[in-house]
Amino acid sequence: MRQKWSCLALASIRITEFTSLKRYIHERRNIRKTGKMGLILTSIKRIRPKNIGCWLTDQISQPNRFRCLFLQRTAWGAFSIYSHIKRSNGKPKIAYSTKSKAENAAVDMTKKYGKPFTVYKCLFCDGWHVSQDPHGLPVQEKSTEAMALEKYAKKLTVQAMELDVEKVLSTAIPDLAPVYGGFRGRSLSSTKQLHAWNTMMEAGINQVIDLRADYTSDFYSELCRKSGISYFHYSVSYEEVEQMARLFPEFCRLIDNGRFYIACAMGLHRTDIALCTYWVFYAADKGIAPPEIRGYRRVDGHNTGKIMRILNALYKYWTTQNGKEPMPITVFRERKEIINELSKN
Ligand SMILES: [Zn+2]
Repeated sequence: MRQKWSCLALASIRITEFTSLKRYIHERRNIRKTGKMGLILTSIKRIRPKNIGCWLTDQISQPNRFRCLFLQRTAWGAFSIYSHIKRSNGKPKIAYSTKSKAENAAVDMTKKYGKPFTVYKCLFCDGWHVSQDPHGLPVQEKSTEAMALEKYAKKLTVQAMELDVEKVLSTAIPDLAPVYGGFRGRSLSSTKQLHAWNTMMEAGINQVIDLRADYTSDFYSELCRKSGISYFHYSVSYEEVEQMARLFPEFCRLIDNGRFYIACAMGLHRTDIALCTYWVFYAADKGIAPPEIRGYRRVDGHNTGKIMRILNALYKYWTTQNGKEPMPITVFRERKEIINELSKN
């Protein structure tokens, strides 16, 4: 008896398979015979009207909806039966029960095939399908920087009221150290340090001071702009001493505001120079203490030659520019001597 039933069940499966295959062949023939019109008619007959609302809501929520629906009209492909079945064998495409499951699959396929994939609500079944994205950027063209911007650049909904020093220190960025109400350390723009970006913002850093003279990418300033953080490029370079002099008042103002993150690439040498210019030509007069020297240290085999070279260039530039020294030469020498002493620590 049991055997008989199982035979029957097997037979019924065969019949179902057979009828759907038969139907497919029949439909293919129809489509071929009647061309585009046949395809449309076959498709319309099989659409489940209850899915149209969900499909439309999803299309309208897309960022490139206008292009998909009206300019290139690729979105309307969903009304073709081939959005649900494969052209090659007529079998239904893999369907995912929810949009997020389909999106996860699309991400995996994008990684696997190196081409952009997207998801859409199927009008013919209750699921979601994945297909190649005609509007997506080729994956190879999406640079690491573009991906980093997508991942890290976000504006905070709640701004910190003051700098949370412990939180900044918890990021353990190399050569991180508090200075003048802000922080110095290795540049956050490197992929190795980006993991700390969101924590820095949450901790209350609201100003980036970038000291690299040879940095030409827009990435760091873009990251700041998109995150609602101010970006100030103050190139520290002997060749650009005129520009340093011009930007100096603004640079000092930003240091006085605190809550900045100042860095060259490593956050050591140009950072020492920048902070020394701030102290020698501005902060020392206000009774503010000199900065700790962290890059040009004697123990690390360095001397303060490069700091002095820029301090001297600025002193000379302002003297010529204003017709008088920014401070008496004796005072200037004393301050330089203090920096030399600090570099020995
Ligand atoms: Zn489907």
